[in-house]
Amino acid sequence: MHDIFELLFPSHCLSCSKVGPAVCASCNSKIIRHLSPRYLDEVPLWPGAFYGTELAQVILMAKEQNNTAARNFLAGLLVEAFMRINANSTFAGPILLVPIPSSKRANRARGYRHSYLLAKELANQLGRLAPHKVLAKDLLRTNRVVADQSALNRQERLANMNGAYSLVRTARELRQPFGISQLYLVDDLVTSGSSLREGIRALKAGGFTPNGVLLAGVST
Ligand SMILES: [Zn+2]
Repeated sequence: MHDIFELLFPSHCLSCSKVGPAVCASCNSKIIRHLSPRYLDEVPLWPGAFYGTELAQVILMAKEQNNTAARNFLAGLLVEAFMRINANSTFAGPILLVPIPSSKRANRARGYRHSYLLAKELANQLGRLAPHKVLAKDLLRTNRVVADQSALNRQERLANMNGAYSLVRTARELRQPFGISQLYLVDDLVTSGSSLREGIRALKAGGFTPNGVLLAGVST
């Protein structure tokens, strides 16, 4: 049945449109993995891959088209990043994944919450591998209007994001029911790092210190 469906509605590579898997072998080989961690306010950032043409296209499809195959692929890159951190240790759990929120305006225009859906898919994929519960919670919210970051320089981006997030629940409210022992921020891409910096600040202000940030892609 699956084969007939594939024959009638063949899938295409999200990047080069070749008939076949969501990311064809040729495009996949151009997505460079195994990057070393970066640090932001002493919190390690773990990238899945370098942000090149192929990955850019996959992120665009997940973010703007709500494409499930694209999102699953990005979650796979995040799993790889998580496994690189935890390769040599028996990792503790339960694990809480917190997405960096998009602006309310972007969520309304899209009709879905891209970063939350990505964190949720990561929780699904990690949950199959980890001997612990893995939860995705929309713990951060934007508490005021933020300008579109794309038109701003680095300094303006930092000012734009400073104090923009707050926590939906406190550390205490979350730790008690779930017994969280590891917390990771999750995002598709880091550019200036101003959203991540604000996410780290808001979490710390609420009593959480993130173990790290999992990113599908980094541009530098
Ligand atoms: Zn391709």
